[in-house]
Amino acid sequence: MDFSGLSALVGEENISLNVPMASLTTFKIGGPADATVRPQDVEQLKEVTEWCREKGLPWILLGKGSNILVSDEGFRGVVICPEGDFLSIHTEGYQIHVGCGVTLARAAKEALDHGLTGLEFAAGIPGSLGGAVYMNAGAYGGEMSQVLGSICYLDGSGIRHIGPEEARFTYRGSRFMQEKSLVLGAVICLKPGDAGQIQERMRDLAGRRREKQPLEYPSAGSMFKRPEGYFAGKLIQDAGLAGFSVGGARVSEKHCGFVINTGSATARDVRALVQAVHNKVWESFGVRIWPEVRYLGHKGWEPMLASEGEVCATLS
Ligand SMILES: Cc1cc2nc3c(=O)[nH]c(=O)nc-3n(C[C@H](O)[C@H](O)[C@H](O)COP(=O)(O)OP(=O)(O)OC[C@H]3O[C@@H](n4cnc5c(N)ncnc54)[C@H](O)[C@@H]3O)c2cc1C
Repeated sequence: MDFSGLSALVGEENISLNVPMASLTTFKIGGPADATVRPQDVEQLKEVTEWCREKGLPWILLGKGSNILVSDEGFRGVVICPEGDFLSIHTEGYQIHVGCGVTLARAAKEALDHGLTGLEFAAGIPGSLGGAVYMNAGAYGGEMSQVLGSICYLDGSGIRHIGPEEARFTYRGSRFMQEKSLVLGAVICLKPGDAGQIQERMRDLAGRRREKQPLEYPSAGSMFKRPEGYFAGKLIQDAGLAGFSVGGARVSEKHCGFVINTGSATARDVRALVQAVHNKVWESFGVRIWPEVRYLGHKGWEPMLASEGEVCATLS
């Protein structure tokens, strides 16, 4: 494939070819993407998606790659990594204006620096603002839907601004996921607080993560969504699957909801493990657990879990 048309849009320095997706994901798994492209502003982003559409090439907007499993064959398409304007962040009063490429850790630090409370829950989630809004990320009783004042996004008809009540947030879902639209940025609305207490809360939550989660191994966090009325990790543990492995993929003994890459895991290993865990939990307790982690580039892989996890990349 000739990507010179893309270079003309974003500059040669903002394109890389055959990039191993393992290097762009926290799972450290995944074959090469044909191209990664780094648009610097919304005009470039639009032009890149239009170029892909004209060429009939699949594409995906990637955040920090902390909730994604890329196939061993990689992705035959374009991975868009927003930079430039998308990394902007500034505070006005109690509101933080955040571009989609900013990490949640950076946004939480901004809140701390301005003595604003409400975002402490997000400090340890290793994603971008865009990915977190798209997934409605949450932890320790907080979630993105609770702290957003407005969201700016791009769909087939252009740039739109909406309030959180129009974002159709659900548990780990949003209209952006349903409609496959792109989150460009958001305004986070917080309350004034005591900087010492905010910092203490962040430290406490970071300590709890270190104690309970296998942060020493590559993973994509909780592999499964919480089934209503249950905890996926507890079901997996009670099914006797702590430490269960397929190749280099293993159910963490520290937190059974995490699937870890012990060093040489392939996407094939993870998929087989997810399927086996799903089946065993269903047989043991009659509860279905579905992946929270998004799948990319797994075309031709048809088992039942694909439809729940497959990432699609079209602006319709
Ligand atoms: C150690 C660890 C701990 C974790 N703990 C938590 C936790 O406590 N709570 C929690 O909710 N999650 C947790 N996660 C999962 C993950 O961090 C979140 O789901 C996060 O919101 C994903 O953001 P990301 O930028 O990494 O998205 P990516 O993994 O890059 O992408 C995930 C999906 O979001 C889409 N996307 C990304 N950016 C945009 C955008 N701007 N517009 C539209 N779509 C976009 C992608 O196309 C993809 O479909 C954890 C992960 C790890 C590795």
